[in-house]
Amino acid sequence: MGLLDLASGKSVYRGYEYYVNNRVLFCEKITDNQYLGAVEGTADEPYEAFVDIVHPRKSYCNCPFAEGKRIICKHQVAVFFKSFPE
Ligand SMILES: [Zn+2]
Repeated sequence: MGLLDLASGKSVYRGYEYYVNNRVLFCEKITDNQYLGAVEGTADEPYEAFVDIVHPRKSYCNCPFAEGKRIICKHQVAVFFKSFPE
């Protein structure tokens, strides 16, 4: 199962919008499969979203929607698209 398969359709759509609208403030490659990004959200501080494409369930984000849960939110999707634009 890939990262996008674990996300809801709405999160994929909204995450793609975030990516297109340049709301990913930065994105850092940690390993070939792991990326850490900061994503502008509704709060004052950007959210920190980490994605692992080989082990998508290790991905996390500190937004209220995904924090503490194994949920792929739009911020993680946005970092994914930023990391893999193709
Ligand atoms: Zn999030």
